[in-house]
Amino acid sequence: MPLVFITPEVLFETEGPHLEMLRKAGMEVRYPPRARLTGETETIEALRGTAATIAGGEPYTERVLASLPDLRVISRWGVGVDRVDLDAVTRRGVVVAITPKSNHEAVAEHTMALLLALTRSLMRQNQEVRQGVWSKVPLLPLRGRTLGLIGMGRIGKSVALRAAQFRLRLLAYDPFPDLVFARTHGVELVDLDTLLAEADYVTLHMPLMPSTKGLISRKTLARMKPGSFLVNTSRGGLVVEEDLLAALQSGHLAGAGLDVFAQEPPSPENPLLRLGNVLVTPHMAGVDTQSSIDMAVQAAQNILDHYHGNWPEESIVNPAIRPSWRW
Ligand code: NAD
Repeated sequence: MPLVFITPEVLFETEGPHLEMLRKAGMEVRYPPRARLTGETETIEALRGTAATIAGGEPYTERVLASLPDLRVISRWGVGVDRVDLDAVTRRGVVVAITPKSNHEAVAEHTMALLLALTRSLMRQNQEVRQGVWSKVPLLPLRGRTLGLIGMGRIGKSVALRAAQFRLRLLAYDPFPDLVFARTHGVELVDLDTLLAEADYVTLHMPLMPSTKGLISRKTLARMKPGSFLVNTSRGGLVVEEDLLAALQSGHLAGAGLDVFAQEPPSPENPLLRLGNVLVTPHMAGVDTQSSIDMAVQAAQNILDHYHGNWPEESIVNPAIRPSWRW
């Protein structure tokens, strides 16, 4: 009976169609002893003997993989694979799958929520009205302003579709852009410097990789328009947090909306948490009641496809492994 561990905190000991799918196929489903796995040692101890995981944010490093010799499939609940050492995984014959059709719209909705909350000053006004302050400071519009998308894959496109309805002008920087989408939906493809110089609102939708780590730094922040806003619903490591802090404290940036942090959860001492013009959420952009189920079902299906000898082409992150891969 193949053993499958389910590690995402949101799915911890909760019922759902993904469980039935796995059990019906004769798999034994288990959970780690704690709802959230973090370090390597904890991951190794929690997942011993596992053949497949519906994987959350735990690390899959060389050391972890060496200690989990039965592991065949890492089926990510979501699309980010920055916690997986793809070279090590491929070398050790483990296939990695993601759930590409399941959470892009949730992240896009959250991105728009952060953008709207920041520009309409919802946090400040909510507090002020409760304190008896009836402020009449004009708010900022979206219409007619420029939104810069860094990364225009599944999520970037979903944001573009929504932002177009708010009548924002759309700029995008992506080294591998979807030209047809851009043309069809009126997105101007530009280089990074142009985007930073012209956007009133910049939103990050590229993956965290060695080439994108710290892309938003003192240098790139300095090129952003004075009074502009940054929204990050992608990964904390894309932004050098102390540089963002400096840009916000100096007033060069008017505000930021952050769903993700370099360290998660962030330390209570993280100075970004003390700024009134920073709106923060706990890495939940991709998780709503619908996307959570959709991700779980697709992650379970990815495991079952492998078990039954099918190859879920669209979900595989390391396809080079195919000729040698065995359950
Ligand atoms: P995707 O692969 O569909 O799109 C990523 C895009 O980024 C691609 O078009 C790629 O060409 C582009 N890109 C690569 N390098 C770039 C660079 N240097 N500059 C600009 N663009 C670059 O991925 P997606 O589904 O849109 O997800 C994007 C990221 O969002 C994920 O990698 C993940 O980290 C993050 N995410 C966060 C949450 C959340 O809950 N906060 C949920 C889902 C995904």
